[in-house]
Amino acid sequence: MKYLFTFSLLLVFVIGYGQKEKDPTATEIWDPKPEIVTPGASMVEPPSDAIVLFDGSSLDSWTHMDGSPVKWKLEDGAMTVVKSTGDIKTRESFEDVQLHVEWCTPAEVSSKDQGRGNSGVWLQERYEVQILDSYNNQTYVNGQAGSIYKQHPPLVNACKGPGEWQSYDIIYQAPRFNEKGRLLIPARVTVLHNGVLIQNHIEIWGPVEYRGLPQYKKHGPASIRLQDHGNPVSFRNIWVRRL
Ligand code: MG
Repeated sequence: MKYLFTFSLLLVFVIGYGQKEKDPTATEIWDPKPEIVTPGASMVEPPSDAIVLFDGSSLDSWTHMDGSPVKWKLEDGAMTVVKSTGDIKTRESFEDVQLHVEWCTPAEVSSKDQGRGNSGVWLQERYEVQILDSYNNQTYVNGQAGSIYKQHPPLVNACKGPGEWQSYDIIYQAPRFNEKGRLLIPARVTVLHNGVLIQNHIEIWGPVEYRGLPQYKKHGPASIRLQDHGNPVSFRNIWVRRL
């Protein structure tokens, strides 16, 4: 009797499992439905739900790190770093984002290594996607264009030449901390450089450290920051989508 019961139970499981496996609706997800977003007419135009941070007409979405008005040069639909004026940051704060940035290093090459077209896109003010003129320019690979500075080299070098407009499309997942400040989930980032995948959902080890190893410190939502590294790097068409 005991064996018959066990056998019956097993039969129910086998038949039940078999039926479930054949029912296609068991694996269908219907809700919630993804929001409809109209893509831009071209790759460089912001989609309908983007926050436009710079469209070439005004620097109003940005300040220097101390909150003062931006002293970078606004000309011909682009903004250009003015040496020693300092980094700039968005007025708005962000966490997980999709970010589009176009940048251009000086057409005239006057330096080398890290001094050639150096700037950077700093996610949440702390995690740098390096900007550098890496077209025939040797430097440490985790400091070249598209590197997560001093951490991860890009998968390939997709850099265009000096004076040419280039793009970064960045998908960024902010780090998560608990109330006591302990890191729960490190930040992750995916980067396309001129449409080419150069960072693939890579783990960020912590904030940029020029010396030594990075170490996470708890923080909340923060700005997108652009670096003044003393080189006249230009920017245009910057937009972001909150994720
Ligand atoms: Mg830099």
